[in-house]
Amino acid sequence: MPEGDTVWNTARVLHRALAGARLTGSDFRVPQLATTDLTGWTVRESASRGKHLLLRLTAPDDARWTLHSHLRMDGAWRAYAPGERWSGRPAHLIRVVLRTPGAVAVGYHLHELALVPTGKEDGLVGHLGPDLLGPDWDPTEAVRRLAGHPEQTIGEALLDQRNLAGVGNLYKCEVLFLRGVSPWTPVGAVPDLPATVALAQRLLAANRGRWTQSTTGSLHRGQTSYVYGRRAQPCRRCGTAIRKEELGERVTYWCPVCQPEQSDT
Ligand SMILES: [Zn+2]
Repeated sequence: MPEGDTVWNTARVLHRALAGARLTGSDFRVPQLATTDLTGWTVRESASRGKHLLLRLTAPDDARWTLHSHLRMDGAWRAYAPGERWSGRPAHLIRVVLRTPGAVAVGYHLHELALVPTGKEDGLVGHLGPDLLGPDWDPTEAVRRLAGHPEQTIGEALLDQRNLAGVGNLYKCEVLFLRGVSPWTPVGAVPDLPATVALAQRLLAANRGRWTQSTTGSLHRGQTSYVYGRRAQPCRRCGTAIRKEELGERVTYWCPVCQPEQSDT
């Protein structure tokens, strides 16, 4: 599941493969960029902002551009050595191929692929709240934005990237379990909002630099989460069956005993 940490890792892979290199070819397989050719452009850097990827480029006329992409649920970038077999995904999912003398970057099932002047990145990511893994992470501002909608459920508020950027469904479920908070609790009734935000940041940061996401400390298959993906399995703390239900546009997992409803506090 691409959450902030996965996107951060992906940005790093692209940076190591492409940064500083001149593109020797590009192949866009999306209608809006079908005629775009980045041959001769230089890759300045690759960065992430929440769940958005920003590949910053310099055109031959020195103009600065940003190739934006979003992984959503299923997108991925892979970097290969020239001549290496592309083993990532089926070829029909390829949306873009970028070639340099030392690497080939292939983007699979990317969303919101767009090429914009770097000075206009804010049009794509300016609405985002503080980035949990960004250099400018600001927990006070994240709490302020969350608290601005006290009636919203905390389960939905943590996923709203305008509040804080980088939390996906896995971390949402796990943070709320670890804080003992029901996902249906209104934001205004969450006992310690700053602690919830701080925990979300710590969990994402702990998973930076690896592809297996774990909130339990274990990297063994089937032991990496407390509640996420564990419907009907026993809670690791109290043994109660973990529940799964729709909340807003997403499903949520929780333990009804460890995470009691708190709507009247
Ligand atoms: Zn429990």
